[in-house]
Amino acid sequence: MNGRPNMSAADTSAPQARAARWTPQRVVIVGAGMAGTRLADEIAQRDVGGRVAVTLLGAEPHRPYNRVQLTNVLAGAAAEEDIVLPVPEDEVAVRLGTAVLGIDRERRQVRTADGGGIGYDTLVLATGADPLIPPVGGVRTADGGLRPGVFAFRTLADCRALAAAADAARRVVVVGGGVLGLEAARGLAGRGLDVCVLHMAPWLMEARLDAEGGKILGAAYGDVGIDVRVNATAVEVSGADRADGVILDSGERIPADLVVFACGIRPSTALAADAGLRVERGIVVDDELRTSDPRIHAIGDCAQHPAIAGGLLDSAWEQARVLAERITDPESTALYTGSAEVTRLKAADLDLVAMGEVNPDPDTDDDAASVVFSDARGRTYKKLVLRDERLVGAILLGDDETSGLVTQLFDRGTVAPPDPKVLLFRGLRQGTDDSGPDLREDATVCRCNGVTREDIVREFAAGARTVEALRDRLRSGTGCGTCRGRVAALIADLPADMPAA
Ligand SMILES: Cc1cc2nc3c(=O)[nH]c(=O)nc-3n(C[C@H](O)[C@H](O)[C@H](O)COP(=O)(O)OP(=O)(O)OC[C@H]3O[C@@H](n4cnc5c(N)ncnc54)[C@H](O)[C@@H]3O)c2cc1C
Repeated sequence: MNGRPNMSAADTSAPQARAARWTPQRVVIVGAGMAGTRLADEIAQRDVGGRVAVTLLGAEPHRPYNRVQLTNVLAGAAAEEDIVLPVPEDEVAVRLGTAVLGIDRERRQVRTADGGGIGYDTLVLATGADPLIPPVGGVRTADGGLRPGVFAFRTLADCRALAAAADAARRVVVVGGGVLGLEAARGLAGRGLDVCVLHMAPWLMEARLDAEGGKILGAAYGDVGIDVRVNATAVEVSGADRADGVILDSGERIPADLVVFACGIRPSTALAADAGLRVERGIVVDDELRTSDPRIHAIGDCAQHPAIAGGLLDSAWEQARVLAERITDPESTALYTGSAEVTRLKAADLDLVAMGEVNPDPDTDDDAASVVFSDARGRTYKKLVLRDERLVGAILLGDDETSGLVTQLFDRGTVAPPDPKVLLFRGLRQGTDDSGPDLREDATVCRCNGVTREDIVREFAAGARTVEALRDRLRSGTGCGTCRGRVAALIADLPADMPAA
């Protein structure tokens, strides 16, 4: 699904003009992660006059942080302080270290671990997801915890524990060759560890790449010293008191001081299920982000919306925007109808962006056309998949030069240029009579926050002359962070004496 949230210009018009129709309400948000914190912020920004009382409850004890950036903390490229998320504490009652244990739907109250009850008019579940740890022998201790030497990678606590253990370790096995496992592997290799990645499927990131792309990515990982094993299933973690290796289905044992499981996520649905809400894989929501109880909403990784696979930041933040719009403006018609899902690998020296449908079957699928450039020796692989002249999927591995352009085309679903190969290499566009759509390579600079080149030029003209000043005004660079270099390059090109737009 390639839809975008349906928020018309009218939906976002001046809230003051409608103040008379607003209903004061108590909004309780469960989960102070990426989605919950953003929702609290979006409501505070829209709620001029403070009519909506927001309470944000988070089980983790730390200040809310940017989970996506944990990869950079593990790699030593960012400090914990750098990834703290802004929370509007003047407008929002924030209670950290406060787990919600139950929901009383009749009395409209949540019950917290300290025994308290908090009433709500609207409840939002933003409880995220838990790491999926496969039932491999030797992973858990008798009390159900992870055995010493075995780690998940989801929370700041996981990241701290893993980083501390890595300082005293030499060899690590990462189980799972999806995005998270590959980012963790690159980060740990950057810390000087010998890293082996085990992946059950025949190629890395098999849900996002095709076979050839996955193989070239594996070779690129080999180049940076990481041992990648595909078609390899971990059947047991070996060791007496603590893990000392992983045994494969082939019988081979790979020695390890640390074993990291990055095998996917399971939406955190227990609270919703206990309250009798409809739960399948996640908490089922409609386009208004309502659960089966219209007083209760769910957003982010815990929610299951029919148009998306989930598990990505973009959709969590888009959902937060739509729901904030609806909560603060009873006349809003904003709907969440899906997000264009784009995956970008955040790993030093390895550029990869993948989106949409990348694996049409050439034998049975006549409607899809693929344009492929493959250079295994150069570790470069580029693929575009088109349907009805529109870009429905792409892989760009090995260089980043047209990823902005390709992502933009994918996001907008507009007709592709008549000669699509101009999307593969920047140089091919220059000097061509490209009568295709008018695309600027830098039109969308920060995809996580929907910041365009025009937004940056406007704020630059209004006085925001640094990456930090633009971040504070536009939130650019505060999501996955991969656009910060593009923001810096853009402002370096702008004239210092630019008149106000
Ligand atoms: C290392 C890492 C890197 C990632 N990189 C990317 C990336 O590059 N791009 C991308 O799109 N996505 C990425 N993701 C995924 C992204 O982080 C998630 O999609 C996003 O965090 C979802 O936000 P959320 O608020 O739904 O869940 P979370 O951020 O997990 O927040 C949920 C919060 O709810 C709290 N909670 C749960 N139950 C309760 C309860 N009963 N009471 C109170 N609090 C509760 C949890 O403690 C947690 O703090 C990455 C994830 C990880 C772990």
